[in-house]
Amino acid sequence: MRALTWHGEKDVRVDEVPKPEIVNPTDAIVEITATAICGSDLHLYNGKMPSMREGDVLGHEPMGEVVEVGSEVETLERGDRVVVPFTISCGSCWFCETEQYSLCDNSNPNAEMARKMMGHSPAGLFGYSHMLGGYAGGQAEYLRVPYADVGPINVDSGLPDEQVLFLSDVFPTGYMAAENADIEEEDTVAVWGCGPVGQFAIQSAWMLGAGRVVAIDRVQERLEMARSHGDSETIDYENEDVYDRLMAMTGGRGPDRCIDAVGTEAHGTGLDGMSDRVKTGLKLQDDRPYVLREAIKCCRKGGTLSVPGVYLGRTNIPFGSVMNKALTVKTGQTHMQRYLDPLLETIEDGEIDPSFILTHRADLEDGPDLYETFNEKDDECIKVMLTP
Ligand SMILES: [Zn+2]
Ligand SMILES: [Zn+2]
Repeated sequence: MRALTWHGEKDVRVDEVPKPEIVNPTDAIVEITATAICGSDLHLYNGKMPSMREGDVLGHEPMGEVVEVGSEVETLERGDRVVVPFTISCGSCWFCETEQYSLCDNSNPNAEMARKMMGHSPAGLFGYSHMLGGYAGGQAEYLRVPYADVGPINVDSGLPDEQVLFLSDVFPTGYMAAENADIEEEDTVAVWGCGPVGQFAIQSAWMLGAGRVVAIDRVQERLEMARSHGDSETIDYENEDVYDRLMAMTGGRGPDRCIDAVGTEAHGTGLDGMSDRVKTGLKLQDDRPYVLREAIKCCRKGGTLSVPGVYLGRTNIPFGSVMNKALTVKTGQTHMQRYLDPLLETIEDGEIDPSFILTHRADLEDGPDLYETFNEKDDECIKVMLTP
């Protein structure tokens, strides 16, 4: 079958690879009908994520039709149309039973590698390095889905792929980011990064009762989307000082809730941004946490900082400010299974149509070019959907 594969920094190819087969009786095989490229795939594309190997199949935002199920799969059958969440969860460990699905203790066969780096291993993820499971991803014609009774959600309501596909990651991830921000009625919520996760965090902030949303980016079409679809006030950080502007907007108090939807590869400006580039270049730190530092600086005393953005390792943040300003920090990979049913309902009820973020549709073969387009933010690219 054809699949998009990783071959090193800025080198994604369309390769012919073996079609996946049932390995465990709880597996299912899904024939992919639509699959998206995620902002977090760009960390792989840019060679930032350790433990990638040449030929790894990419992708963690797929949906399609179940074509085969293992003998112990109970909730799915051939012909079911499913969206597959990016986290892999066993459903029966302590973490899964307490609905902390992205912390599943059983789904990462390479847990030891992650334990060495982080002390414990989170769940395995599709198409996201060997340290996080070494699972083949979903930018391919077929995908093996482990623990098939726990992850995929059945979508039989006849909604087109583009309306439900983003349940695989970015919609629930934006929603959990807003939920983690502990938004109370009339709060001011600041969102750094107006990519897909930022856009869904904005939508979700309103759903959870925000009084005001401020979106921060430098890419004009993303700021425009935050204004038009997200009903947000916006700050273009290349033209304005974010701290000064946020303080002016909030009478010096700062936003109550701050969401970092950027993560490890923040663009950064000024000396601070340059210092991150030098230190990551010299491998003195793993991340460029410019946005995280700015959010800590801007957040009101006693406020909440929610971090859906991906970070990789050692980083440089002013923890003294977190402590002295009594900030609450919440983060983590998304506990996908908590959100799939309720968010599918919001789509079916017409409360939200997630396809508003989609700017590019193409064949799987065009994947390598679109990785480049998306990475460079060319052609007003915000979200790519590929069809195998
Ligand atoms: Zn993703
Ligand atoms: Zn588990």
